[in-house]
Amino acid sequence: MPEEILPGFYRLEIPLPDSPLKSLNSYIITGSTRNLIIDTGFNREECLAAMQKGLRSLNIDLTCTDFFITHLHADHFGLVEKLKTPTSTIYFNRPDAEILDGWDGFEHMFTYAAENGFPETELRNAFKQHPGKKFGTQWVPELKILQDGDLLEVGDYKLTCIETPGHSLGHTCLYEADKRLLISGDHILGDITPNIQGWSDQQDMLKFYLNSLDKVYPLVVDLVLPGHRSMFTNFRERIDELKHHHMARLDEILSILDQGSRHAYGVASKMHWDIKCDSWEQFPVPQKWFATGEAIAHLRYLEETHQILRNESVPQTTYSLIA
Ligand SMILES: [Zn+2]
Repeated sequence: MPEEILPGFYRLEIPLPDSPLKSLNSYIITGSTRNLIIDTGFNREECLAAMQKGLRSLNIDLTCTDFFITHLHADHFGLVEKLKTPTSTIYFNRPDAEILDGWDGFEHMFTYAAENGFPETELRNAFKQHPGKKFGTQWVPELKILQDGDLLEVGDYKLTCIETPGHSLGHTCLYEADKRLLISGDHILGDITPNIQGWSDQQDMLKFYLNSLDKVYPLVVDLVLPGHRSMFTNFRERIDELKHHHMARLDEILSILDQGSRHAYGVASKMHWDIKCDSWEQFPVPQKWFATGEAIAHLRYLEETHQILRNESVPQTTYSLIA
């Protein structure tokens, strides 16, 4: 059931079956003429049923409802195609929209993953089980692009878009300055660490992410409303923790490479992960996929800051410490 956080402002938990994230927080703001739903859930029955039940209890009419999606990942974006009506506007950001527009499948990611040491048989499995493929949107509805600093007004709330690339290329938070609220999407989570992945040599996603943490730091925030798990109040303390976490990760990778050069998949297999498995071999393939993406993001950052070297002379890209 939706929980009223502030007058006319609700949090609705949407279950994410089989995902370690457990559930998604969808935020619903009611207004006299239009309502706004922020993030939606996977494009799968369990999510749709929970959303419809919650909307019914609030008497939400979808023909008077618009959507804001924080980023392109399937657990946030997937369900919007089932909820939108011909009169709904879907607000979104340009970088992620361009990725959805130019989407020609996961093949590039797979080639890149293979170059980074991901074994072929596991790759095929990861492909079949990738939530983006299984529960993503089947088609991309028309999107209204918002940019950094743009304002959305709904009910008593004035929400400013704050672009925070890192978790995705165009990830965007919403800030309510008067009420000191930050709808943080997957940029800042309280109970878990947002996953920062790199699946291309083009971007240094960890650098983007750390810059985006610095970007929001000066905001005055009394309550953070994240995309997953519980709301929290210790905004700046949490940012400090997240930065510290990534610095510790970089150190961990340097000490792994101190024992010899490795490809990203090999580095990921040696890193510590908060998952209930005795060994890397027992990790579910999707988790190996996210872990390897995370390792790549950190390796790219270390490479860009000239702390390690990339060796491309072998069929697989390996990284090593600078001698
Ligand atoms: Zn996400």
